[in-house]
Amino acid sequence: MNNDSSKPAASASDRAFALNQALEERGLIPEGYVETFTEVMENDFDPANGARVVARAWVDPEFHALLLRDGTAACDLFGYTGVQGEYIVALENTPTLQNVIVCTLCSCTAWPVLGLPPDWYKSFEYRARVVRESRTVLREMGLDLPPEVEIRVWDTTAETRYMVLPFRPAGTEGWTEEQLASIVTKDVLIGIARPEVQPSSQPPR
Ligand code: FE
Repeated sequence: MNNDSSKPAASASDRAFALNQALEERGLIPEGYVETFTEVMENDFDPANGARVVARAWVDPEFHALLLRDGTAACDLFGYTGVQGEYIVALENTPTLQNVIVCTLCSCTAWPVLGLPPDWYKSFEYRARVVRESRTVLREMGLDLPPEVEIRVWDTTAETRYMVLPFRPAGTEGWTEEQLASIVTKDVLIGIARPEVQPSSQPPR
């Protein structure tokens, strides 16, 4: 904590650099740890993973049931496990229910299926306002929901990591899992957007 209010706070990258240096000087970072972690973060933890899980749930009723019963086990079938994915809970949207995820304390997300949280997800503004005035915040972010759609905001706990399971939009009949996954974005998995079927995303006939 910076108790000297006359001093401007160091930038996040400056603080990260200083912390890394302090840990390194004390020999507290195992060889290759940062490199390995960075690689996992950049290559393995990807919202495309969550999109594949959603697409499977849309085409496979048994998997759909498993995902809602035990999200961790369902994601594990794809190999999507690891840090911040120890207890994944899927929240199912319907045409009249929109689930939205927030971590009011900090920025927790289910890394293996959502990837790292976007900057706006970590902002004080999103964390405070999405709870108090979710409909307005969603509208500002581009999701203008009709009044009959209930919005349910889920605050991430110390253990639970949520992912939103959107409902399959009309116009996607006969699509392959890959095509279905292509309309599921990180925003959709967080719940501030719904999958959209653009004419250009129609599969070729
Ligand atoms: Fe958090």
